[in-house]
Amino acid sequence: MENILVVAELQNGSLKKGTKELLSSLVGKGKTISAALAGEGADSIKEELQKYGVTQLFNQASLTQYNPTSFTQFFAEAIKQSGANLVLASSNAMTKDVLARVAARLDAGFINDCTELSFDGGIHLRRPMYSAKCSAGVNLKLEGTSIVLMRANQLPVLEGTESSTCEIKALDAGTENETLKVKDIIKGESEKLDLTEADRIVSGGRGLKEAKNFEMLEELANVINATVGASRAVVDSGWVPHSMQVGQTGKTVAPSLYIAVGISGAIQHLAGMSGSKVIVAINTDENAPIFQKASYGIVGDAFEVVPKLTEQLKASL
Ligand SMILES: Cc1cc2nc3c(=O)[nH]c(=O)nc-3n(C[C@H](O)[C@H](O)[C@H](O)COP(=O)(O)OP(=O)(O)OC[C@H]3O[C@@H](n4cnc5c(N)ncnc54)[C@H](O)[C@@H]3O)c2cc1C
Repeated sequence: MENILVVAELQNGSLKKGTKELLSSLVGKGKTISAALAGEGADSIKEELQKYGVTQLFNQASLTQYNPTSFTQFFAEAIKQSGANLVLASSNAMTKDVLARVAARLDAGFINDCTELSFDGGIHLRRPMYSAKCSAGVNLKLEGTSIVLMRANQLPVLEGTESSTCEIKALDAGTENETLKVKDIIKGESEKLDLTEADRIVSGGRGLKEAKNFEMLEELANVINATVGASRAVVDSGWVPHSMQVGQTGKTVAPSLYIAVGISGAIQHLAGMSGSKVIVAINTDENAPIFQKASYGIVGDAFEVVPKLTEQLKASL
C-alpha cells in the first residue's frame, strides 16, 4: 500500500501547476497522502490540499530561501515523520538538487524526469533515455522509500473532490548545520512562467543573427502568453542567459506548443523539447533536422514570418 508524500511548490501564493498535476494523479485512488512545503504559504494552500485528499502538510515556514542543507534536512524529516514510501515531486532545478541529496541521506531510490505515471495494477513510470532517442518503462517496487520526479505538463490537472481534513505539522529541522550559506539570490527579470512549467514556448536560435532580434520573439510570446527559450548556440554567444536554454545541458520542457525559430534541431536541443505536444518550426533551410520533429513547418525567413505571424495572432486573439 502506497503512503505518498507530495512536494508542494508555490507560485504567487498558489500551488504550482506541476504540484497540481501530481495531486491530480492521486485523485480517487484511495492513497494516504501527505504534502511537504518549504517556506511560507501553508495556510493559503491548506483548503486546496484537502480537496485532493491530503491529510497532513509538513511545513517549515522559516525556509524562505533555498538552501541545499536546510532543505535536505526538512524534506528528509518530513518523509520520515509521514512514513511515506513514495515521494512525488515535479522535476526542476530545486527538486533535482535537494531530493537527490534526500535520497542519499535516506538510502531511498531516486528516479528523475519521468514522463508517465500510472497506478493501475502497480506503479508504472516512463522516462526518456539517451537524449530521448528511446524511453524506459519502469515498474516500481516499493521496498523502502522511492523518490520520483515527474516532468511538468505531462499529467492532466483535475479538480480535487475529496473532503479530508488537512493538519499542518510545523517542523523545525534546523538551519544551524548549514554547510553552505546562500549570500544573495538574484531574481530573473521575467515575470513569465519558468520554461519547465510553461504551456507555450517560443524559442530562438542562431538564425536570429543577434541578441536584439529576440525582441521579435518577445513580441510574439506576449501575444500568445508564452515564455521565451533559446538554443545553446545563442546562450554560448551571450545573447541570452543560460536559464533560457532548452536541451540536454539546459532545461527539459514539455509545453502544448513549442515554436522553434531559426533553430536547426541538433539532437542535444531535441533532447530537451521533443516531448512538446505541438512543434512549429520556422527555418530557411528545408532540410533542417527540426522539420523531422515538427508538427507544422514553415520554410521561410524568420524576419518575414515572425512579424506576420504576430500580426495575424494579434488580430485573431
Ligand atoms: C554535450 C553537448 C550538449 C549540448 N547541449 C545543448 C542544449 O542543451 N541545447 C541546445 O540547443 N544545444 C545544445 N548543444 C549544441 C547543439 O549541438 C547545437 O550546436 C545547437 O543546438 C545549435 O543551435 P542553433 O540551432 O541555434 O544553431 P545552428 O545549428 O547554427 O542553426 C541555426 C538555424 O537557423 C536557420 N536560419 C538561419 N537564418 C535564418 C533565418 N533568417 N530565418 C529562419 N531560420 C534561419 C539555419 O538554417 C539553421 O538551421 C550541445 C552540444 C553538445 C556537444
